[in-house]
Amino acid sequence: MSTFPARAVVNLDAIAGNVRALADYAPTAQVMAVVKADAYGHGLVPSAQAAIAGGARWLGVAQVPEAIALRAAVPASAARVLTWLYAPGAPLAAALEADVDLSVHAGWALAEVVAAARETGRVARVHLKVDTGLGRNGLTPTDLEALLPDALRAQSEGAVELVGVWSHFAFADEPDHPTVLAQAEVFDEVVGRVEAAGAHLEVRHLANSAATLTAPRMHYDLVRPGLAVYGLTPVPQLGPAADHGLTPAMTVEAELANVKRIAAGHGVSYGHRYRTTRDTVLGVVPLGYSDGVPRHASGDLPAQPGGPLLVGATADGGGRLLRVAGRVCMDQFVLDLGPDATEQAGDVVRLFGPGTGADTDGLPTAQDWAEAAGTISYEIVTRIGARVPRVYV
Ligand code: PLP
Repeated sequence: MSTFPARAVVNLDAIAGNVRALADYAPTAQVMAVVKADAYGHGLVPSAQAAIAGGARWLGVAQVPEAIALRAAVPASAARVLTWLYAPGAPLAAALEADVDLSVHAGWALAEVVAAARETGRVARVHLKVDTGLGRNGLTPTDLEALLPDALRAQSEGAVELVGVWSHFAFADEPDHPTVLAQAEVFDEVVGRVEAAGAHLEVRHLANSAATLTAPRMHYDLVRPGLAVYGLTPVPQLGPAADHGLTPAMTVEAELANVKRIAAGHGVSYGHRYRTTRDTVLGVVPLGYSDGVPRHASGDLPAQPGGPLLVGATADGGGRLLRVAGRVCMDQFVLDLGPDATEQAGDVVRLFGPGTGADTDGLPTAQDWAEAAGTISYEIVTRIGARVPRVYV
């Protein structure tokens, strides 16, 4: 066990089980587990291996170095790896040597992929990234039309193989938003044009977690869930993860670094935004915003309730739910344990984890922290800092 007084415990069976559940939602598609950003903070390689154990045959990452790092641990026989976000000069030749699939999102990107293929003598498997309406990365349908002849020429010369066309939603977290269907219609049209031009596509892919869970029409050949792989629901209206067969994989916990009595009317933490209302006991939690505890989840009594924690957890799921008292600092924050507290330094407090089925009961969830900080659960888990050890169970 590390000597750092806090940890993110990652349940790898939960990740495998979540992938199985997602595959059940999309029985006609393959699953690409999105493991970018250190597997949403859960740890790239162990999470990827767990996703493969759950049936994922594809892994998706944003950056090229993430793909190369992944391939060092995951053989091509276990999973295909796709990378999709790079600027000119990225190590595409190394990615091809590592047998990674490459996304092409611009004309210069195709030129660099072709150059890397010629340099390595490998055929680059290319997924054409189309901006069907998100307004972010990818070729507009017009740009794709212009690029297609070059891509087909590179294919006939043996430098690339056009294996995929793909896109990403702007409003997948609002499944009924009209842009969802509109983007799918643009996608269908683009796919039709690429196929009519002579490409034999292996995979068309559009669905992230929300679309995997809610929109079979969007599943195509491959679904690309990220957040749900880690057991979190992307759409709060979908309710608790357990209702969808998902189990949150990460539990963040810490040992109290100090417990002390303090008088009524005492200010707590920087700026004294919280003030004790009675003689009480304070506990110091040795995690702060440098570890990913959001400063926006500070507790200013009575204006804003801070992020929730479970204190004095018992084996049957009991314990007291308390909230951050005062400002979250760089390395620590404070809890008001109450006048009758029996906690001691070293006792474990839990910030978030799987909950108890109903997201607001028992152990808080990453979603509860997201609500306390005015953000999304994606940001809560991906920001858990590098110095917080990941412990795999
Ligand atoms: N596909 C792409 C291109 C992404 O950028 C992401 C994540 O942002 C995903 C899929 C997975 O999205 P989610 O975590 O919402 O399932």
